[in-house]
Amino acid sequence: MAKTCLCRFCGKVFNAWSNRTCCNECQQKEEEEFERIENYLNRYPNSNAIQIAEGLDISPFDIIRYIDEGRLYVSKGEFKSIGGGKK
Ligand SMILES: [Zn+2]
Repeated sequence: MAKTCLCRFCGKVFNAWSNRTCCNECQQKEEEEFERIENYLNRYPNSNAIQIAEGLDISPFDIIRYIDEGRLYVSKGEFKSIGGGKK
């Protein structure tokens, strides 16, 4: 059965056979976003999800979603470390 999904780029509601967060029209945007992440990782290979998100101004949850989908192999990082400062 098709699922009702919400596109995280344009906010459109659409039906898909699997859980998706991006509609067909915005598929290109997601590919571009993913390419930006890959480029970032080439420059900063030891980045974790939080650092990538901050460096590229992308939601950390989107990065983690890529990790969960198996498209990215990086550490998720510690959410609580954001703005926490080092002791
Ligand atoms: Zn869309």
